[in-house]
Amino acid sequence: MRSCKLPSGATMPVLGLGTWRMGESPRRRAEELDALKYGLELGYPMIDTAEMYGDGGAEEIVGEALAGLARRPFIVSKVYPHNASRAGTIAACERSLKRMRIERIDLYLLHWRGGARLEETFDAFHRLRTAGKIGDFGVSNFDLGDMEDAARLDKGLNASNQVLYCLSRRGPEFDLLPWMRKRGVPLMAYSPLDQGGLLRKAALKKLADGVGCTPAQLAIAWLLAQPGVVTIPKSSSRERVKENLGALDVTLSPQLLAELDRAFPPPKGKQALEML
Ligand code: NDP
Repeated sequence: MRSCKLPSGATMPVLGLGTWRMGESPRRRAEELDALKYGLELGYPMIDTAEMYGDGGAEEIVGEALAGLARRPFIVSKVYPHNASRAGTIAACERSLKRMRIERIDLYLLHWRGGARLEETFDAFHRLRTAGKIGDFGVSNFDLGDMEDAARLDKGLNASNQVLYCLSRRGPEFDLLPWMRKRGVPLMAYSPLDQGGLLRKAALKKLADGVGCTPAQLAIAWLLAQPGVVTIPKSSSRERVKENLGALDVTLSPQLLAELDRAFPPPKGKQALEML
């Protein structure tokens, strides 16, 4: 699978599996684990999780899905802002490593800004990186001003900003994405299907029918066609995990891209960063 380069020189795959809402209910656990394992079997090279999801439950399911794998995928996890003090970030990372039963998180993100001082969080990130407990670090839900603040502390190593970005929420294209592209920082688009809401749009369905793919595949393929963008759709169903991977085979012609722009117009001005 295609990958993109991080400022550190490491690489990150362009498509992964999301895990929000996993690990919350014992009743759904087996299905969630099965979907993740199946996704890895199919070749998804990345998983996105967070200590927040299922209160650690999602990371535990990830750990179980990874058990016995000869080659593990690229792992992204996130620290809660209220845990993101200097000592708190390091302790939270240790807990996440333990839950996933791994030695290193490939990309460790601050879930959103708030709580601890950014100086402390970044100091902890640098320490964790030096200790080899994380490969790279980054942020999530940071708008342009936040990114500028982070740039004063990241020593050029902020590896990503995970934000809400999809066809129906294109705000980041106006200022944030161009700023990140200029600095070679990939944007990780969360909720690429707008949590399923995008798939109910008649315009998307019509365009997908026209090229012989599903609406979800078209929504994901559109994100992957944006330079410097990677994404992490979530599904707890085998069929949909497989369907979403099919986005890699969808080619978007200039005409289709123009039709998508007509149906889902790009922003005309600055918009406040949306967040779920
Ligand atoms: P998505 O846009 O990925 O949509 C997930 C929803 O769509 C689920 O209800 C899923 O249901 C459904 N779905 C998935 N594939 C299909 C398909 N092919 N056809 C129809 N329905 C489908 O939303 P998420 O909010 O989960 O975002 C993805 C990931 O991004 C998260 O899981 C998480 O890892 C991350 N995230 C990060 C945030 C942050 O603040 N940093 C905030 C939100 C998300 P089902 O499971 O039943 O298939």
